Amino acid sequence: MQGRWTMTLMMQKWVIIATSAVILLLAGAYTIVAWLDKLGLIHWAQAVRDEYLPGSTITIIVVLLVLVGAPAGCLAIRRCPVCEHVVLRSGKYCAACGSRV
Ligand SMILES: [Zn+2]
Repeated sequence: MQGRWTMTLMMQKWVIIATSAVILLLAGAYTIVAWLDKLGLIHWAQAVRDEYLPGSTITIIVVLLVLVGAPAGCLAIRRCPVCEHVVLRSGKYCAACGSRV
């Protein structure tokens, strides 16, 4: 009980710290953007995007990611990370080798 209460307090502290950091970052967004602009990073990024990342390239990257991730993500077929056996049931353990999926 003591450990859980301490953990909760820690989480509350981190939420407060994270919220404060986000607010400070948002408040200084224009300053940060102006600083990046002064450094020339924004112009450099725009040049790189125009040179190397046109729309067709992004489309090809997205299609490749979908195709590569298809067995795990799109078709919802899970595989055992140990023996590559297809896990058909919704259990937590592989039927072939007993590893946790
Ligand atoms: Zn397995």
